Amino acid sequence: MCYSIPAKVVEIKNHIGVIDYFGEKRNILLDDDRVKTGDYVYAQGGILVRTIPEKEALEILETWKEIFFELKKVDESLSKIKTDKLPENAMHILQKVNLRKTLTKKELASLFELDHKNELSVLYEIANNVRQRSHGNASCVHGIIEFSSYCQQNCFYCGIRKDKNIERYRMTCKEIVETAGNAVDKYGFKALVLQSGEDYWYSDSKLEEIVKSVRQLGVLVFLSIGSRSISTYKKLYAAGARAALIRFETSNKASFSKLRPGTTLQDRIALIKELKRIGYILATGFIVGLPEETSQDIINNIMLTKYLAPDMYSFGPLIPANGTPLEKEAIIKKELILKTTAIARLADSNSNILVTTALETLDLSAGKEALLAGANSMMINITPVKLKKLYSIYDNRAGINTVLHKSIKQTTDLLYNLGRAPVDTGDIRGLK
Ligand code: SF4
Repeated sequence: MCYSIPAKVVEIKNHIGVIDYFGEKRNILLDDDRVKTGDYVYAQGGILVRTIPEKEALEILETWKEIFFELKKVDESLSKIKTDKLPENAMHILQKVNLRKTLTKKELASLFELDHKNELSVLYEIANNVRQRSHGNASCVHGIIEFSSYCQQNCFYCGIRKDKNIERYRMTCKEIVETAGNAVDKYGFKALVLQSGEDYWYSDSKLEEIVKSVRQLGVLVFLSIGSRSISTYKKLYAAGARAALIRFETSNKASFSKLRPGTTLQDRIALIKELKRIGYILATGFIVGLPEETSQDIINNIMLTKYLAPDMYSFGPLIPANGTPLEKEAIIKKELILKTTAIARLADSNSNILVTTALETLDLSAGKEALLAGANSMMINITPVKLKKLYSIYDNRAGINTVLHKSIKQTTDLLYNLGRAPVDTGDIRGLK
């Protein structure tokens, strides 16, 4: 199984390569001077992952040739707008989308008011159409290894917050690299997210060793390790990490300070901006459904995400975890996340939008519905099953008992049924 198909480098200019997937061109950053025009490569998030011998690439492409165009046809047919039954003012705004004009915050807020089932289904169709026009049927599927459930923070919404009395684990460098190696060799992953709580047991040098070893497997290394220092992130970039997932969680300053005690939104945003300056591909976003959240807060969250210009939006519902200060909060309706997905897609056609596991936990069909409302990226949890259930950021997480080959099959079946292909979705816009 393969989560990225090889592409041919057709042009190189100042470390930017143009790569070709069956006639579809994308730009990637080449941080390896040995790559030349005519080489075959794997790319993820607009970054070179590694080269691949021509003979091997051509064999893989031969098996993909027909299916690639078949998937495209399925996607094109599913992303047609079938109906136009919307209030006149909403139609007017959506005509702007068709003309590729930027929507104002006020216009996004007015689309957020749509509530009727039929109106929402038109909104989702239009967002899916925009996704298809901007990204084709490209989808990325990253693997994620949750390597430590220790955390020094006490976020109100989190089931592994420091003060919660739970069984915790840390994976050794050897265990992480073995897990990553299995995902790469046996299942063909090309991008791996290394995720943990804010756990300083992993010193800079331990993290550097982990990043270097995982990078050597020939994958894009994606960090999700929270608010570590800028100097740590610089060292990890030098060690080979190229992407970072760090959400700001809420753009509401007061909520942020209350829900993430001892930290400030300002510091978090400063760190996120600095990660971009270092050169990381950025994934960021927020939680939907925090206490006292208004529609305006959600629109502000989308606008802040857009302002930070990430490669990928990551937002999911609050799922109240037992034993946390938010355990009694109501669970939001799936429609709110789908609507947020569609509005985010209309706000920013270029970015990738991730389907989070939290969304899949909310409702089994929600992943598919989000992919049809503008989302285009997924993650597969490759943490060893015995540890997955201990990374209990919220209760009853989807897929914690599912073995890896089954999770992969479920995800790829879902993507292929929707006509999506594992083609690099990056466009290097987020890179310095
Ligand atoms: S959300 Fe992240 S930083 Fe906050 S307690 Fe959970 S793991 Fe720690």
